[in-house]
Amino acid sequence: MSANTLQIRNLTRAFGGLVAVDDVSFDVAPRRITTVIGPNGAGKSTLFNLISGALLPDSGSVRLGALDVTAMPPQRRQRAGIARSFQITNLFFGLTVGENLRLAAQALESRRHMVLPVGRSRRALAKVDEIIYRFGLGEKVRELAGNLSHGEQRRLEIAMCLACEPQVLMMDEPTQGMSHHDTQDTAELVRSLARDVTVMLVEHDIGLVMDLSDHVVVMHQGRKLADGAPREVRDNPAVQAAYFGN
Ligand code: ADP
Ligand code: MG
Repeated sequence: MSANTLQIRNLTRAFGGLVAVDDVSFDVAPRRITTVIGPNGAGKSTLFNLISGALLPDSGSVRLGALDVTAMPPQRRQRAGIARSFQITNLFFGLTVGENLRLAAQALESRRHMVLPVGRSRRALAKVDEIIYRFGLGEKVRELAGNLSHGEQRRLEIAMCLACEPQVLMMDEPTQGMSHHDTQDTAELVRSLARDVTVMLVEHDIGLVMDLSDHVVVMHQGRKLADGAPREVRDNPAVQAAYFGN
């Protein structure tokens, strides 16, 4: 699957009188890491919901390459290549790591072929093996997902997203609640993912943001305050005033 630019144009969404996302436009370059930052309530999660399809905008558009996905429901958007990693909630705690991953991979195969004899898709199984290896979950294949550490569960969750072979992988605060060690592991993982897929993050740890991102988008009160290379954004006086509080 060729990589496409994700184009966010004039996205606007209000809740009653509150404009949570206000005329936001930017491009997300393929196979790069684009991170959305901003204080609580800035509109980051709403923006992610508009891109993944959990919410529809009042106006504006989302395109992946030539494909306009603006009005598509989340499932169709996922098929179009935009996948969002939800925090833990997609895991089946009573199933093993391997079973969780096989389900995710088989969901992809069944979408391609309509009918899939359960457990018979060789392609899906090969994919699962590759992902298990890549995510360092080899020793945990037979462990119940419910018995994994918090960091491992987050990793499994991202792995399941990847089993669907997305073009764009969206993660809202993937390191939230993680130990320093798990955060560093996740950063490494995100870096390696960006070799193949376009990554969009919401992340609070500003050190991590500066270290990891190719492109940073700063949100403030629903509006895009700035976007650009990490240092350029950090040194922007408007960003300093609004976000870093200097
Ligand atoms: P962030 O993720 O940057 O913290 P959000 O996108 O969650 O910000 O929220 C932006 C604003 O929109 C906040 O003021 C929040 O209270 C409001 N908001 C978000 N979702 C809803 C909703 N479903 N209904 C009403 N208000 C909402
Ligand atoms: Mg949020």
